Amino acid sequence: MNTGKIGILWDVDGTLVDTAEQHFLAWEQLSTEIGHPFTRADFARTFGWRNPEIIRTLYDANADDAKCERLALRKETLYRDSVMSGGTKLLPGVKALLDAFEAEGWPQAVGSSAPRENLNLLLGATGTRDYFPTIVCGEDVTRGKPDPEVFLKGAAGLGIAPTRCVVFEDAVAGVQAAKAGGMACIAVTFVGHHPAEKLREAGAGLVVATLEEVTVEVVQRLVG
Ligand SMILES: [Mg+2]
Repeated sequence: MNTGKIGILWDVDGTLVDTAEQHFLAWEQLSTEIGHPFTRADFARTFGWRNPEIIRTLYDANADDAKCERLALRKETLYRDSVMSGGTKLLPGVKALLDAFEAEGWPQAVGSSAPRENLNLLLGATGTRDYFPTIVCGEDVTRGKPDPEVFLKGAAGLGIAPTRCVVFEDAVAGVQAAKAGGMACIAVTFVGHHPAEKLREAGAGLVVATLEEVTVEVVQRLVG
């Protein structure tokens, strides 16, 4: 077994943190402010959509762009307030792994499609920014996952060959991106947006229910 350094590449939403609840609370608050009902079912039905489509579907089918923009701005403000007030926590097992990899001297990067502003906010709110010498965000890439660009840039930033890197992901497109980049991938089903079987099919070398199942040895075995 090669015992050299391993590069660790982290997806953020659904892997490091789960911000779905903060998005739900922001929509709920906005709905209250404008006197409109909003339920868990409304949230589930529109999860992952862009703001204008959500607004036209839930509030006003004839909303013009200005109205959509005004409501979306308010929603994003409420979302960021919720994140900053401590509503976002690291998912189970994450903190222990960040510390374990750091203790091994393995460099860690973030590879996320999220805007830099949101990443800064999330990493700041969870006190994890200092773990990552390299942060690759939505603005840094021209092609989103499943293209490997975001992870290849992360590996390059860490100075580690892609074949010596392990990606942590929760989504099928992210697993595909890791595989396309020649990297091993550990997929986690904790937030439950993607079934284990689909993640395995996409090329995950290991699928776990929570990152509490992962250790330094498990990661080492994947890279070989
Ligand atoms: Mg994700």
